[in-house]
Amino acid sequence: MKHQVVIVGGGAAGIAVASSLLKRRRDLDIAIIEPKDQHYYQPGWTMVGGGVFDFDFTVRSEQSCIPKRAKWIRKTATAFEPENNAVIVDGGEQIGYDYLIAAPGLKLNFAAIPGLQETLGENGVTSNYQPGMATYTWKLVQGLDSGKAIFTQPPLPFKCPGAPQKAMYLAADYWRRKQRLDKIKVSFCTAAPAMFGVAAFVPALLDYVKAYGVDANFGSTLIAVDGRAKKATFREKGADGAEREVVREFDMLHVCPPQIAADVVRNSPLADAAGFIDVDQETLRHKKFANVFGLGDACNAPNSKTAAAARKQAPIVAENLLSVIGGGAPEFIYDGYASCPLTVARGKIVFAEFGFGGKLLPTFPAWLNENTKATWFGWMMKAEILPWVYWELMLAGHEWLAKPRKREAKAA
Ligand SMILES: Cc1cc2nc3c(=O)[nH]c(=O)nc-3n(C[C@H](O)[C@H](O)[C@H](O)COP(=O)(O)OP(=O)(O)OC[C@H]3O[C@@H](n4cnc5c(N)ncnc54)[C@H](O)[C@@H]3O)c2cc1C
Repeated sequence: MKHQVVIVGGGAAGIAVASSLLKRRRDLDIAIIEPKDQHYYQPGWTMVGGGVFDFDFTVRSEQSCIPKRAKWIRKTATAFEPENNAVIVDGGEQIGYDYLIAAPGLKLNFAAIPGLQETLGENGVTSNYQPGMATYTWKLVQGLDSGKAIFTQPPLPFKCPGAPQKAMYLAADYWRRKQRLDKIKVSFCTAAPAMFGVAAFVPALLDYVKAYGVDANFGSTLIAVDGRAKKATFREKGADGAEREVVREFDMLHVCPPQIAADVVRNSPLADAAGFIDVDQETLRHKKFANVFGLGDACNAPNSKTAAAARKQAPIVAENLLSVIGGGAPEFIYDGYASCPLTVARGKIVFAEFGFGGKLLPTFPAWLNENTKATWFGWMMKAEILPWVYWELMLAGHEWLAKPRKREAKAA
């Protein structure tokens, strides 16, 4: 079996790029390798965990997302063989291609934390990252009258840099509204040295940390969970700089798991030393294999891994691939745009938008939305507009607010 363009992964990035390509060239022979028959709108899971969306709202059939002119190969890619222009799928079949787009996302590594997998979904241990489990998060939030709630954040990389704390703010806001917050000790244990990697957004977040009385622990990494005993162990640095293990008791534990490159990428010639697809961060073309592009969470461009990033990347990859097919060079460039709508309270969001190096890249003018502040506009985007943008525009190749940009010609 051989196709002109093979896309591995039919998630946010894979479907968006297939649609962007077909929008430009209807006659392309595109196959999408994707084993799952459900497509998730993962950015909605924070809202499910906060009781705003139903889980069903975040799921559609994969069939309904695959562009009509693309062929769906309902298999798992088990190996990349870029030297042979081929992908191997489960069962051993070889799928050949002229051009490859790799977008298989990343792997949630719950197994890296002893005791976690066994207790996930019970004993008060939950994760909005696990498909379907945000519903349990919301159940726990509603059920907690008093006690200790811990929210964890691992070292990078992980998708959506704000999701671990978004879960916390929505829970704390609920407890505050129900007048329970003074009986619940909320802790945030993050491996990072600050609330967020882009300094401009931190003051607005700290206002809410203070308002909810959150005990923020920086440089704190979850290393073990004992669900039955309701104890979580963290590695932390003391004031003397020495590392120590700290055991914390919990009634509710929300975990953002460590995340690594998908096995099929990590063990392939496409990977960099860290296991992610080694692309040029601007053109998203593979650094070694000229007929290969990578996008979404699976690639190593130093942007925040978000669906918003994939939304911007997809048209860029489409343009650059078509240019390569036509014998030209990739001319369109990615500036690292990512967006992380930080749900600090029901009705308020810090609509963080930034690119490579933390450069602020607001979509809207400040008079409409000041995106370093908590705004109702940001909430409306997240709650009402963005799900529609995802399902109806991004996945269908309508590139609203995602017009690709060419590299600026250098002054002579
Ligand atoms: C709790 C949570 C909150 C989030 N919040 C936001 C947010 O507010 N805003 C935002 O923009 N983003 C958010 N994100 C991140 C966003 O969902 C991801 O960055 C985005 O889905 C990445 O798209 P992707 O296509 O690279 O990966 P995915 O959408 O994960 O898709 C990868 C696809 O590849 C398939 N696949 C995997 N392995 C193989 C294989 N071997 N062969 C074939 N197919 C394979 C998978 O089945 C999957 O369908 C959030 C994510 C989570 C979990």
